Amino acid sequence: MNSTSTTQAPPLPTLPKLLAGQKALVTGANSGIGKAVALAFAKAGADVAINYVAGDDAAQEVVEAAKAEGVKAAAYKADVADEGQVEDMFKQAIAAFGTLDILVSNAGLQRDAAIESMTLDQWHKVLSVNLTGQFLCARAAIREFKRRGVRPEISRAAGKIICMSSVHQTIPWAGHVNYASSKGGIMQLMESLAQECAPDRIRINSIAPGAIRTPINTTAWDTPEAYDKLMQLVPYGRIGEPEDIGHVAVWLASDHTDYIVGSTIFVDGGMTLYPGFSTNG
Ligand code: NAD
Repeated sequence: MNSTSTTQAPPLPTLPKLLAGQKALVTGANSGIGKAVALAFAKAGADVAINYVAGDDAAQEVVEAAKAEGVKAAAYKADVADEGQVEDMFKQAIAAFGTLDILVSNAGLQRDAAIESMTLDQWHKVLSVNLTGQFLCARAAIREFKRRGVRPEISRAAGKIICMSSVHQTIPWAGHVNYASSKGGIMQLMESLAQECAPDRIRINSIAPGAIRTPINTTAWDTPEAYDKLMQLVPYGRIGEPEDIGHVAVWLASDHTDYIVGSTIFVDGGMTLYPGFSTNG
């Protein structure tokens, strides 16, 4: 197959209104995967709270695009690693939307370095945004889900949380020990919370993306050479688009997946199939 950095997959099918009447908060939603999740949720009929930390204009663009789908949308500026800002954001979003049914904890970043030059700041920054941020947002969402309980006319569950993890929750990643550790931590955070909260009818799961075309990993796909090298890791032969994750998030937040609890859905074109072994290792 002739692959280049401009290869685009054909459009995905139109989303049905699987989330009609539900209210969702998506963190890191003014870029990449978070933006695609927020817009897919809007297309599926959910009102969306758009969290972001920097980039007011980009956040406002997502709000307008979501509103164009006929739902309510608003932007909330907050650092997910800051307890006070997270608490304020949930308070404001719950006041504006009435309640919340879905949290997608997506905000994340990388600060890459070889171990001997990785600073403690780089370590703390990645762990605090990627892992502590997920703890703070999950805690605030679960408090609201438990307070309100199940509304059977809206959803079978009292609430749903989707943690944005990564294939690096299981694949080690040299030169990125802070990022891989944060994603491994998300796996245990998600599974332990899922076990704790399932009796309250709160469903907590993860999506683990492989290589998705976003600003976080531009150098991995923005030249034909980089793209072809990346494809050696992707049996399906194309990079993932943010919409690939958005559509899975809609499905995982909907009652179609009501019996999925504590699972990680890998959305990676086969990256976790150890493609290096396809010619027998
Ligand atoms: P991105 O850089 O386009 O988006 C990251 C988002 O997180 C941005 O909106 C950014 O503003 C936000 N953010 C960063 N720090 C924040 C903070 N302190 N508070 C609130 N928001 C903050 O990258 P992306 O690829 O869309 O990444 C989204 C998530 O997907 C991340 O958790 C990332 O680890 C994960 N992921 C991405 C890939 C990929 O290939 N793109 C693969 C696996 C996992």
